[in-house]
Amino acid sequence: MRLETLAVHAGADIDPTTGAVAPPIHLSTTFEHGPACEETHGYSYIREKNPTQTRLEEAMAKLEGGETALAFASGMGALCCVMQSLGPGSHVIFPDDAYTGFRNLYREFLSHWGIEYNVVDMTDHSVIKGAVRPNTKIVVTETPSNPMMKITDLAGVAEITHAAGADLLVDNTFATPMLQRPLEFGADIVLHSTTKYCGGHSDVQGGCLVLRSSNRWKQRLYRGRMIMGAAASPFNSWLILRGLRSLDCRMERHCSNAAKVAASLEAHAKVESVCYPGLNSNPGHNLARRQMKAFGGMLSFQVRGGYDEAIHVASRVKLFTNATSLGGTESLIEHRASSEGQGTKVPQNLLRVSVGLEHADDLIEDLMQALG
Ligand SMILES: *Cc1c(COP(=O)(O)O)cnc(C)c1O
Repeated sequence: MRLETLAVHAGADIDPTTGAVAPPIHLSTTFEHGPACEETHGYSYIREKNPTQTRLEEAMAKLEGGETALAFASGMGALCCVMQSLGPGSHVIFPDDAYTGFRNLYREFLSHWGIEYNVVDMTDHSVIKGAVRPNTKIVVTETPSNPMMKITDLAGVAEITHAAGADLLVDNTFATPMLQRPLEFGADIVLHSTTKYCGGHSDVQGGCLVLRSSNRWKQRLYRGRMIMGAAASPFNSWLILRGLRSLDCRMERHCSNAAKVAASLEAHAKVESVCYPGLNSNPGHNLARRQMKAFGGMLSFQVRGGYDEAIHVASRVKLFTNATSLGGTESLIEHRASSEGQGTKVPQNLLRVSVGLEHADDLIEDLMQALG
C-alpha cells in the first residue's frame, strides 16, 4: 500500500464492538485480568500500553517502514529513554546543529549518568569517523537540522555508524515519513517529536521511536518507557493519530508554500541568506533531492545587519506569530538565538520560520512588508 493510503488507514481498524469508524479513546488506566494476573485482554496497566496508543504505534511503524514503534509523552521523553537505556561508560555522538533540547540534555544530564558524548558536524564524514570510540553506542542526527537546515547523508553516516558497531538514531521530525524514511537508508531508530507535523495543529505533545527489525534496544526501550514513565496519554495518542490522517496533504502544502517563501526571501535585498534545502543555492540540495521526496515546511533566513535588524523584522510581522515550535497549520517566526539563550551558536541575525497552510502570497506579502 502506498504511503498516502497508509496515512489514512494505518491503525484505523473499525472498532469491533461498536463499528465506530473513528477510533475510540480508551481512558481506562487498568484492564481486567485473570485471577493470577493473566493478561486476558492484551492490556493490564496504562503506563505499559493502552489501546489508543497501540493504534498510534501501529500507524507510525507502518509509515516509517519499521518493525515496531513506541509512543512517548514527548519527543524529549523518547530521546531520554534511549539515553537512559545505554548505561554508564557508553559514548554518544550528537550533531552540532540540532534541536536545543538535545544540547540541554547532554550538557546538564549525560555526564551525571556516566555517558560520554561529543558533538560533530554531521556533514563532514571524516570528523564523524574521528569521533568514533570503542564505546560508541549511538550516533544521533537530525536532517534537515534545526535551524541551519543542514542535510545529513543518511546512507553514508549509517555506514560509518555500523562500521563502529553503533546504531544510528535519526530525528525525522522536520521531514516526517511523508518526505523521508530514514530506515530505508540504514537508520536503526527514527525519533519524532509528534508534537510538530504529526499532530499538526499545535495542540498536542508527543514523541515516538520507530525501530528497524531486530533492533537490539527494543526490549530495553519497552522496559525503559514503562519503568521510567514517559508513556503517551490516550488522549494525546488519539489527537496525534487524527493528525496523521491528513499529514500527507498538509505536508504537500507546507512544502509548496515554503518553496515560494524561500524563493521570495532569497530575492530580497535585505536578506543575506536563506537556508532551505529546496533552493539550488543550498549546499545540501542535491543530497536532499536523493533522500527526500520534497523539502519540507521549515526554513531560516539571515537578515542583513545583525540582532537589531532581525528583531525589527520579527516585530513587524502581522500574519506570522512570534512563537516557538513548528509544524502547525499557522505560520510561525522565531529569533532562534533568543529562544535558545546562552551558549547558542545560532547567528544573531537569523529568523526561523515554520511555514503554515495559509495562501503563500499572504505569507510572502507579510514578510516583504516586515522586511520593508
Ligand atoms: C520539538 C523537537 C524535539 C523535542 O520534542 P518535544 O515533543 O518538544 O519533547 C525534538 N526534535 C526536534 C527536531 C524538535 O523540533
